[in-house]
Amino acid sequence: MTTPIIEIREVSKKYDDGLPALDGLSLTVRAGEALAVLGPSGSGKSTLLNLIAGLDRPTDGSVTVAGVRVDQLSEAGSARYRREKVGMVFQFFNLLDDLTVLDNVLLPAQLLGMGRAEARARAAELLEHLGIARHERAYPGRLSGGERQRVAVARALMNRPALLLADEPTGALDTASGADVRQLLADLNADGQTILLVTHDLALAEACASRTIELVDGRIARDNLAGMR
Ligand code: ADP
Repeated sequence: MTTPIIEIREVSKKYDDGLPALDGLSLTVRAGEALAVLGPSGSGKSTLLNLIAGLDRPTDGSVTVAGVRVDQLSEAGSARYRREKVGMVFQFFNLLDDLTVLDNVLLPAQLLGMGRAEARARAAELLEHLGIARHERAYPGRLSGGERQRVAVARALMNRPALLLADEPTGALDTASGADVRQLLADLNADGQTILLVTHDLALAEACASRTIELVDGRIARDNLAGMR
């Protein structure tokens, strides 16, 4: 068994009123896995993603990612954790439109304090690998949705994250670009990248996930690796 990258123990998240968004959920994701989190709207998917990204804290339980107790981080510690350990890809890309493709991709390295030459070399390698090198001087607004998502993936991978998190990465793409991004994520996982993605796109889960879990009411209702719980 390989090392756990994500170790979630008995996590609950309660908001002021109503049922808990997450209800005593435990989950282990190992290095090299690609996990797709499915489930109806309101089942707790975004809450789970936010806890793993250190953007929110659980009411109970622990969240450990790449050896870091994410639920215990300060605000500054949490920002550093996101720079060093995770890359994030969103439905609507979240690129900075007044920076070029290259500068968008360089940004995480600058925040980390990586040397300029090393950062340029890493960015060049990623842009080449993801097939967008010819757009490095372009602004994101000039690119297609699929190309923008490739830029966002390059940016997310810049600091060699232990974990790539993706929130509906094909949700805003047309069919062809969606297929393209599905293949890209599958290729990254085949190269060893650990991925956790939240999606409604069953084709995405099928194409790139080695494991699928389904949340219902803040619990894991199905886990195709561990079987029914
Ligand atoms: P999903 O991503 O699967 O649609 P969410 O994690 O967004 O589900 O939501 C799970 C539950 O938690 C829902 O009932 C939602 O209304 C509630 N919830 C999410 N965020 C908040 C919040 N900031 N304040 C209060 N309730 C919230």
